[in-house]
Amino acid sequence: MSTPRAAVVVTGTEVLGGWVTDVNGPWLAQRLGALGVQHVSTTVVGDRPEDLRAALENARDRGLELVITSGGLGPTEDDLTTQIVAEFTGRPVALDEAVEGRIWAIVEPMSRRWKGISQEAVRAANRKQALVPDGAAILEPVGTAPGLVVPPTDDDPDRPPTPTVVVLPGPPPELQPMWRTAESHPGLLAAVRGATTLHESTLRLFGLPESELANTMRDARRAGVAVDAFEITTCMRGGELEVVSRWAPEQDADGRAFEAFVVERHGDIVFSPDGRTIDELVLDGLRGRGWTVATAESCTGGLLAGRLTKLPGSSDVVEGGIVSYSNAVKEQALGVDPALIAAHGAVSPEVAAAMAAGARERLGVDVAISTTGIAGPGGGSEEKPVGTVHVAVAGPDGGLSRHLRLPGDRDRVRELTTTAALHLLRRVIAGEHDAP
Ligand code: ATP
Ligand code: MG
Repeated sequence: MSTPRAAVVVTGTEVLGGWVTDVNGPWLAQRLGALGVQHVSTTVVGDRPEDLRAALENARDRGLELVITSGGLGPTEDDLTTQIVAEFTGRPVALDEAVEGRIWAIVEPMSRRWKGISQEAVRAANRKQALVPDGAAILEPVGTAPGLVVPPTDDDPDRPPTPTVVVLPGPPPELQPMWRTAESHPGLLAAVRGATTLHESTLRLFGLPESELANTMRDARRAGVAVDAFEITTCMRGGELEVVSRWAPEQDADGRAFEAFVVERHGDIVFSPDGRTIDELVLDGLRGRGWTVATAESCTGGLLAGRLTKLPGSSDVVEGGIVSYSNAVKEQALGVDPALIAAHGAVSPEVAAAMAAGARERLGVDVAISTTGIAGPGGGSEEKPVGTVHVAVAGPDGGLSRHLRLPGDRDRVRELTTTAALHLLRRVIAGEHDAP
């Protein structure tokens, strides 16, 4: 049986125009991949009926089994998806009173807080959201809009049957749980018959160029590892190399042999064999050690503290941080010796180490991380060009420091510095340190 194919159609003039960045297309692409469905395209269309219709017709004419739409399910005039999908599949809409009642139960308590709005208008708007094409199944609302699974229609001998259409709301917090429900819906399972759910596994590497991984793949192939039998995607992201493999159950031995080959070849460069991010590993590592952490940031201006506090539960280990952008704050808040700055400059290994030591002492933590560098575009010199960065970690048994020469613009230098600092922290947590 051939692999079923799917298209994603993202609707919304705000997404087409670039005011809102599309989250749903990439997210659905990942989910389809994991389901073993071949995702052939994501199309973004504005809130114009003819454009959505054209995207649906294109999917039908290509013989795809599945289309997923995002957006346009709201109560307002510009939300047209249900009507267009109904016309496309030749299934007239009818009011589903049970659904109307369930939507009203969600909306009614909210609508009482809205001042100066007629309840009748609200009811009318929500009646629109309860219109269901003939033969379609409902996906229960996460917000106020229900989703739909619309089965194929095969009533025109001159055309291929319409694909199964799964209609989802636009807001990502509504779309994502609704799609997870749809994944086990009988109508969807019928559309993707023949797909095998793939096992997905991610290795993360730090400190290896992508080209080296190409050599590793070649050597693995030579060593008899079946690297061409399943899907391996590599990508550089924020200075780290991600290797995502997807394999069918019967390819499990090949997949695992490939990952073992990479781990054996690159050792500690594979910092995460189980898909956990550096942020998660650092927080878990700190917890494991029973250590608290603080930051002393210059060129990253708080990004490092932001990363450390982004994950829930970070308050177990994160005490705080100091954004010491000026020399005065480095001196006053962190106790960095002005003579050290005068002798070596603020961007130097000496000052980075003094910042980390100062934060460790003044904030009373077990381990502190510092960053100081030239993010650009100005401020570079021959000796210290833009991208020159020093990061340092001070821990209970000593510390580590790194001199980096980072590529890219200001944003990129700051992002890469943050990631490099977290990797340095991971090493100290693992017990590495320079001689005291
Ligand atoms: P609503 O009832 O909120 O109108 P809807 O299903 O009609 O729901 P849209 O009107 O298409 O959805 O989008 C509502 C909002 O959801 C958008 O303004 C945007 O903030 C967010 N949104 C929609 N589509 C996307 C997308 N593809 N990526 C990210 N955010 C999106
Ligand atoms: Mg809307």
